[in-house]
Amino acid sequence: MRRLRLEISGAVQGVGFRPFIYRLALQYGLLGWVSNTSGGVILEVEGEEGILDSFAEAVVARKPPLAMVQEVRRELLEPVGVSGFEIRKSTGGRREALVLPDMATCPDCAGEIFDPGDRRYRYPFTNCTNCGPRYSIIRSIPYDRRSTTMSGFEMCPECRSEYEDPMDRRFHAQPNACPACGPHLELWDHSGVVIARREGALIGAVAEILEGGVVAVKGLGGFHLMVRADRDGPVRTLRERKGRKMKPFALMFPDAEAVLRVCEVSPGEDEALRSPRAPIVLLRKGGVLPMEEAVSELVAPGNSELGVMLPYTPLHLLLMKELGRPVVATSGNLADEPICTDEREALIRLSGLADLFLVHDRPIARHVDDSIIRIFRGGEMVLRRARGYAPLPLGSHMMGSHCPGRSVLATGAHLKNTLALSVGSNIFVSQHIGDLETPQAMNAFDEVRNSIEELYRASPSMAACDMHPDYLSSVRARESGLEVYPVQHHEAHIYSCMLDSGARPPLLGVAWDGTGYGPDGTIWGGEFFRFRADGAERVARFRQFRLPGGEAAVKEPRRSALGALRQLLDDPASVLLPGTFTEGELMTLYGMMDGGLNSPLTSSVGRLFDAVASILGLRQRLEFEAQAAMELEHCIKGLETDDTYPFLLEEDMGLMIVDWAPMILGILEDRDKGLDTGLISAKFHNTLSGVVVRISEETGEKQVLLSGGCFQNSYLLERTCAALERTGFKPVVHHQLPSNDGGIAPGQVLAALMNLDED
Ligand code: ZN
Ligand code: ZN
Ligand code: FE
Repeated sequence: MRRLRLEISGAVQGVGFRPFIYRLALQYGLLGWVSNTSGGVILEVEGEEGILDSFAEAVVARKPPLAMVQEVRRELLEPVGVSGFEIRKSTGGRREALVLPDMATCPDCAGEIFDPGDRRYRYPFTNCTNCGPRYSIIRSIPYDRRSTTMSGFEMCPECRSEYEDPMDRRFHAQPNACPACGPHLELWDHSGVVIARREGALIGAVAEILEGGVVAVKGLGGFHLMVRADRDGPVRTLRERKGRKMKPFALMFPDAEAVLRVCEVSPGEDEALRSPRAPIVLLRKGGVLPMEEAVSELVAPGNSELGVMLPYTPLHLLLMKELGRPVVATSGNLADEPICTDEREALIRLSGLADLFLVHDRPIARHVDDSIIRIFRGGEMVLRRARGYAPLPLGSHMMGSHCPGRSVLATGAHLKNTLALSVGSNIFVSQHIGDLETPQAMNAFDEVRNSIEELYRASPSMAACDMHPDYLSSVRARESGLEVYPVQHHEAHIYSCMLDSGARPPLLGVAWDGTGYGPDGTIWGGEFFRFRADGAERVARFRQFRLPGGEAAVKEPRRSALGALRQLLDDPASVLLPGTFTEGELMTLYGMMDGGLNSPLTSSVGRLFDAVASILGLRQRLEFEAQAAMELEHCIKGLETDDTYPFLLEEDMGLMIVDWAPMILGILEDRDKGLDTGLISAKFHNTLSGVVVRISEETGEKQVLLSGGCFQNSYLLERTCAALERTGFKPVVHHQLPSNDGGIAPGQVLAALMNLDED
């Protein structure tokens, strides 16, 4: 007989871990006890050594669905002779257990809301320890009901007894509620007058959507705007009101079977859709039904993919069951402002957008957007990290030796901003905040910063930020009073990829994106770094060209085309498609470039995508970031070719320069020969993959990390990975952190910690 003691850390509280241990111990015929501690869960059981071994394995292998085990410390001791099995009261003290993300409704709860015999029949706020709101309702820690937005609701005797029964699925389920004691729905008109309550509110909202109206729905982490997606009219209305012409809308489908009718769904994609994280999954269009019968083309015009999610709260399950068809479920906001979370604020901010408001009285403590992922080579690749993911940490595997005594805050980039914070060996990444271009976004930034520090009781001693001195995120870092640690944007992308993958130097980092501040006063975006134990060295970049108008050029691919062609031809406008510029515009832009006025040099691959899109006549002005690059990718439409364009590799003071001139001239020639645009685009993408292989060969590092917004392009990413593998290199890509600027903040933290470690 022996006594086994396990100390388990991670997200193991409020997820039914202790009842799980209780049941497991009974099953193995073991006696002992289990308790919550400051850092997680501790337990002791007594029995034969062999049985204790298999019990310990089962603890990890069969853990409750929401539990995340970070570490198990195991000790074998002399038995003391216990009787029975006891769930002991928490030992109290400082709680460091992880805060969990919001999780989609579990099958048990979903069963109850559709069971006419259940007391929670059709109750939109049903949840249990295996599902429901967490991060979006937590005001402070320790996580108990008083510190959530459920504090105003007194549990009824029935809910209370579930909450106190260790054998119940709702044991210590902090948001536990039922129709007798919990939150309720209301349907408001545009001035906030209550039109209907409870079931009537739900049915009223459904009727409005079916009639073609726009309904603002208060969900888990904020408001959605919903319209039916199977008719052009309502989608067009929403586009007009939002002032959003082309940018794809996300869809919510009633169930996974309905998705199969309009999208191709791989097993990995199906699993992601149904997972408790329930993200928006990017799926290829094309199912058993012709698209036009199920989803309006206006949802994602010209796009070969749809962003699809399944209902993830009881409210959404009930709504979608009644609607029986896909709806657009887009963030309740104007343009790029943060998602709206409060119903009174929604009346103001969404006035003119929504016809009706379906609201409820459970406050949202913080905005949490829907996450967006795609499945790449069978694995998850997160593009926007929020609901279901935030605020779980990354990095404990990387961090072991890196200054665990110091906490570093990182303020991220300018677009797609997130924050990150290191505490001990964990790096916490905030939910997606968005583009820091509005006062609302800056408010959200400040709120998230305060709350993430408070949640983890961290007092950072250093603020890592982007090297760009004018980014508001960098300004905030300087204002913080902390020691400031600027990190070059593209190096941060590579550090982010290291953190995400666990790859360690030596390696080659390939960072391609739209724009990032270069320390030489030019705009970087097509960069190659060699990472060694002692830090990063830029080994190659793309040939530079001028961006006439600076910031303005970022929104107009035609300006990138003019700038790039100006490097090659005296009269670049002569090869652009007719009508790309007026004579007057050309005069101005030539003047700017020749005088070096507001026309910075750039090595950006993102801008090269823009230039090619313009040359091919695909797009001259952008409505949203990366639109031209997306259109260039999507026009390939499954074409298969290995053809490429030539490029040159030159050297300038020890730096390799990728000269794209022969490629651009080849593209012009193909265009003028009338070659299919998709084929030209495929050849362009293939050339870029070839560039990565060539620089890898020149550098000789076996591991090649691919990061930056350009590698969200799945054609480019797949081709590049395959080409690297064929030539004996090991491509490393993102999974849990976005390769776009949403991944910059955690990269900045790792850069700071690794370099502090050096000193
Ligand atoms: Zn549940
Ligand atoms: Zn109740
Ligand atoms: Fe970037």
